[in-house]
Amino acid sequence: MHPIEGQVLNLWNTCREGTKALGPGLRYAIWTQGCLRRCPGCISPESQPIKPKLVVEVELLADDIVKNAKISGITISGGEPFLQAASLSKLLQLVKQKRPELNVIVFTGFYKDDLKWSDAVGLLEQTDVLIDGPFCQEQISDKGLRGSLNQKIHFLTDTLKYCQDEFENALRKMEVHVEGDEIITIGIPNGNQNII
Ligand code: SF4
Repeated sequence: MHPIEGQVLNLWNTCREGTKALGPGLRYAIWTQGCLRRCPGCISPESQPIKPKLVVEVELLADDIVKNAKISGITISGGEPFLQAASLSKLLQLVKQKRPELNVIVFTGFYKDDLKWSDAVGLLEQTDVLIDGPFCQEQISDKGLRGSLNQKIHFLTDTLKYCQDEFENALRKMEVHVEGDEIITIGIPNGNQNII
């Protein structure tokens, strides 16, 4: 393991106030920076380059998450989260020490069966719902929390199983947030959208 793995995260962005567009309830959102895939039609090409963007200490980020009393969960997307699996796993361990009730959704371009290395397994152990597979333009989905139909929604725990229909069939929401001097659009585009 690289010395800083497990201690820092390189992020594309965060949504600290919480979003309702990336899973049930109000959720702290984290987008990691860096992805080696080049899916045609990628909704987040700016998060692909593997270069420092928003480098944060894992412990400080964990503190920021736990102090938001309004959230019920965390959604992690990217970029490719599993390129930083050790640090994300550590982050979620720290968060759950203080807020064990927070549930976790992770998006990845890998297929679940390929997530076999130890850091990946560590992150899966902290994850309630995994949405896996690369985005495929030919199989675009316009409902639920997946961009294309090749992507599968895996309930790794029962925590969010009661929301299965929402994950698979709910109409999309898109939110526009102002973070400092930056305007970011949150949600999964394409298909039917309610901008709120
Ligand atoms: S895996 Fe996700 S972030 Fe990476 S290129 Fe594909 S759509 Fe973009």
